[in-house]
Amino acid sequence: MISASKNQSEFKIIIRGVRGSYPVGGKDFVKYGGSTSCYEIWAGGSLIIVDAGTGIVNLGKDLMSAYIKSGSDFESRTSIEAVLLFSHVHVDHTQGLPFFSPIFLPDSTFYIYGPDSARLPFEEAITSSLLPPYLPVSRIDMHSLMLFRSISQIETVYWSTKKGIPNVINGYREFERKKQTEKTSDIKISSMKSYAHPNEGVLVYKIEFAGKSIVIATDTEGYVYGDTRLINFSKGVDLLLHDAGYLKDDYKSAMGNKQGFGHSTMEMAVEVAKSAGVKKLGLVHHDPNNNDKILDLIDTKSKKLFPNSFAAYEGQVIKL
Ligand SMILES: [Zn+2]
Ligand SMILES: [Zn+2]
Repeated sequence: MISASKNQSEFKIIIRGVRGSYPVGGKDFVKYGGSTSCYEIWAGGSLIIVDAGTGIVNLGKDLMSAYIKSGSDFESRTSIEAVLLFSHVHVDHTQGLPFFSPIFLPDSTFYIYGPDSARLPFEEAITSSLLPPYLPVSRIDMHSLMLFRSISQIETVYWSTKKGIPNVINGYREFERKKQTEKTSDIKISSMKSYAHPNEGVLVYKIEFAGKSIVIATDTEGYVYGDTRLINFSKGVDLLLHDAGYLKDDYKSAMGNKQGFGHSTMEMAVEVAKSAGVKKLGLVHHDPNNNDKILDLIDTKSKKLFPNSFAAYEGQVIKL
């Protein structure tokens, strides 16, 4: 399987898309980038992708070039395999998928997980967004093996860097299977449902590998006294990526009208990071109105409140 990591115990995340709502471009958005939500995580040689916003397009190009270099034909090339997690199916988290080249390769494999909605099962929500007349191609043109499964916060995905199909286990029911799987899996992915995003919330993911952990809490709004469930879920993690889409003044302004939109301010993210005692905080899901100048300001302000914090930017590599 194609790997960006020679070190089999390396755990790293590459920020592929950190913009919320819609992609932006132009001279004011060069430093932090304009692609929508996508995170590339390497646990040893295994690839986990969170969200398929437009940031996944460049990830696809890099995977394709490594794939082509790996051999001269299908038989000799190293195939692409990944776990693909969706926080939710809002368009800024799915719109890159039909332009993610590896999805068309017949020898690629994707284990795709995300939440069901009350109106649509997860798989249908994704595949119905991949239909003509909205696109020139449809799901059936995507020849990779796409194995869909909806997950909820009571289930945990276990995967092994030695490969094979990931195991999804209900930790409240399947005690024996859980015990056995934990012995053979070195990657653990758990989730927490955040209700602080309209209309049906999002899944916040925690990925654990080699004694380190990352929590990705995109598209979530803070609560008075902090989001106590999220604080508990993120306790002591090495890296928390937290939504910080809005400026405090905009959020509070009667004209701005941002309360209840399901996104946080930098101050809300810092409150969670401090209470959870996380080692590093990355601010993500930047509002499309926040240009480089504004994000520089958010970055400086957040460092004053929590020194180990930063406004995340596209292309950023964080090793854990
Ligand atoms: Zn979003
Ligand atoms: Zn959303």
